[in-house]
Amino acid sequence: MEKSKVVLCRCESYENADVAVRRMLDELDVQLPTEKTILLKPNLLTKALPEKAVTTHPAVFAAVGGYLRDKGCDKLSYGDSPGTHFMGTLSISKVCGIHDEAEKLGIALADFEEGAEVPYPEGKSAKSFIICNGVREADCIVNVCKMKTHMLERMTGAQKNLFGIVYGFNKGATHVKYPNSVAFAKALADLNNMYPPILHVMDGIDAMEGNGPSGGTVKHMGWLLASVDPVALDTVACLLMDLDPELVPTNTYGAAYGVGNTAFDKISVTVLEGESREEIDCGEVRARYAVKDFDVYRGAADKGKIKHLAPFEPLLRKKPVIDGDKCVGCGICVESCPAEKKAVGFKKGEKIPSYDYKLCIRCFCCQEMCPKHAISAKVSPLARFIDRNWKI
Ligand code: SF4
Ligand code: SF4
Repeated sequence: MEKSKVVLCRCESYENADVAVRRMLDELDVQLPTEKTILLKPNLLTKALPEKAVTTHPAVFAAVGGYLRDKGCDKLSYGDSPGTHFMGTLSISKVCGIHDEAEKLGIALADFEEGAEVPYPEGKSAKSFIICNGVREADCIVNVCKMKTHMLERMTGAQKNLFGIVYGFNKGATHVKYPNSVAFAKALADLNNMYPPILHVMDGIDAMEGNGPSGGTVKHMGWLLASVDPVALDTVACLLMDLDPELVPTNTYGAAYGVGNTAFDKISVTVLEGESREEIDCGEVRARYAVKDFDVYRGAADKGKIKHLAPFEPLLRKKPVIDGDKCVGCGICVESCPAEKKAVGFKKGEKIPSYDYKLCIRCFCCQEMCPKHAISAKVSPLARFIDRNWKI
């Protein structure tokens, strides 16, 4: 069986992104459907300047768009349904710098303001999604994602980025329907099978570590990645973060549902550094390039095998907490909470919201959307202790 190919291209600066992306995509050598309408899907999570590493950097977006244009792909559009979709894709893309680059390349903004239900009877977990019109109108997708940490799935890369094709508030409803990292990863795997992008490019030049995907800190990694297999791409990204790929449910269920490969012996990695080109395996990627101090959650507590510890689950689960010194009382977390009875809200006379953890499904939408990065995930001392002592 042919291995999934991941191309890893050293790129230290966004100024060189154009040259690096071209070299990387030439190496990958994907047959592009020039006659078809292609939707570019960057990460436009929320209004953030490019240097914050919350969104796909405009230089990478422009490089991919320019490459597609030069290869004869004329029918290009772009879009993403952001977490803060009430801000509108257009205004977010302007702040993120994507809008300007799209205009220069003549890439139109697709319709992400409305969507419709699309059935998916083949889905193993999810039988339908509400999909944005701009996606339904396109023939195929090129995924231009960002390397970041994520509170629910530990990291967000190629597979998770596709969640932005789900329309607006329905993303919250999807979290409610699939309310933990495993159930959500299974639904994401169905979504990736339902709308499989023809190409995935990851912006890993400046990644986000810590309190991602919006409130973390910038970590310079100096890599661009590309593949037609999103699971293999995310697996290699995990190795760069020094995160065991098995701990990421999107890898496990992406592979189980046939989206792609996470097993090391089914992935080949071509590394482009300077003038050199080398083929290595996943073990060698980890040995050479893993960034040991990359701040990502490596504990095993939510690996999904804690049945005998079920009575203690409330103690073991991460929970969102608000830093009152950072909170400005804007209420975006309350608005973002998809739980039917809001699990976060303002008590009478209080300016800072508080949680009802009995209602909270731990989707971390509130943490993702807080513009002041006032929300983080708290792991209980017991969970930390168990993580340290047993691989459960
Ligand atoms: S979104 Fe953040 S800043 Fe706004 S109320 Fe919630 S915690 Fe406070
Ligand atoms: S309070 Fe936060 S983590 Fe809990 S359900 Fe609401 S958005 Fe999700």
